Amino acid sequence: MKLFAIFGDPVAHSRSPLMHNTVFKNLHYDACYTRVHLLDGSKLRETFFALGLSGANVTVPHKEEAFKACDEIRGFAKKVGVVNTIVNENDKLIGYNTDADGFIYAISEFENIKKVLILGAGGTAKALSAKFLEESWDVSVLNRSENRLGYFKSLGCTCFTWDSFKLEEYDLVVNTTSAGLKDDNLPAPSEMIENILNHTRYAADAIYGKVTPFLQCAQNKGLTSKDGAAMLLGQGILANELMTRNELSKEDIHRFMQESFLY
Ligand code: NDP
Repeated sequence: MKLFAIFGDPVAHSRSPLMHNTVFKNLHYDACYTRVHLLDGSKLRETFFALGLSGANVTVPHKEEAFKACDEIRGFAKKVGVVNTIVNENDKLIGYNTDADGFIYAISEFENIKKVLILGAGGTAKALSAKFLEESWDVSVLNRSENRLGYFKSLGCTCFTWDSFKLEEYDLVVNTTSAGLKDDNLPAPSEMIENILNHTRYAADAIYGKVTPFLQCAQNKGLTSKDGAAMLLGQGILANELMTRNELSKEDIHRFMQESFLY
């Protein structure tokens, strides 16, 4: 039997074991997926081998440490220096990042996206902006404060703080701030959010497990939207496909992983 795990701190809340085990069970794939509470990210590699893992996911705060722990990095992870999926190929650790690709997969039914506004300038915004630019989308970033905008300017994004914001027409607005996660805040002043949502076709939120005030506002306006569960599902499907080395079909993985969200 193959063994997989998610490394994180904290990790108790992670939905990944349920998501992946539901796929394995329903597709009769001889594997088990567990969680590892890893305090020291520098111990990731030795813990991976000590447990005899065939693959792993990595979550906060060890994604950058995971990049360093791998023997080879493939795909989008190279660009962002952050790894969320590790595959054991003949005792070599191959690192991937499925977070941003998972988001693109999750919004594949959103049509004709060309111009995107990202709310927030943290780690999630970094990965998504790099991916969106790769897709040749026009990317703007709106953040509460100026500090973190330098990275996005260097990528070629149009950057605003709340004070300098100039409204344009967008195809998609994505909330990557943590506003609404543990409070009832909007990611920017209420009037600004109302205006933005009046000038976009689609909305998405990285937060999952609740309808945030941002998503509620988008839904009230009748916008087609996705919550963070779609992003979580998307990265999980792509990670499962990599970890099982394409032995399972993406459609089957999708079907059963989605089913796990009903539990
Ligand atoms: P970071 O801590 O790296 O960045 C947080 C960002 O949010 C910063 O830009 C910060 O602005 C902004 N912010 C925080 N509080 C507020 C507020 N009250 N109003 C406006 N802006 C605010 O976070 P991450 O990028 O790691 O994560 C962001 C969110 O995405 C989290 O809620 C996380 O749960 C979720 N997430 C979901 C995933 C999924 O699979 N669905 C995957 C990864 C993350 P400032 O610079 O001014 O401080």
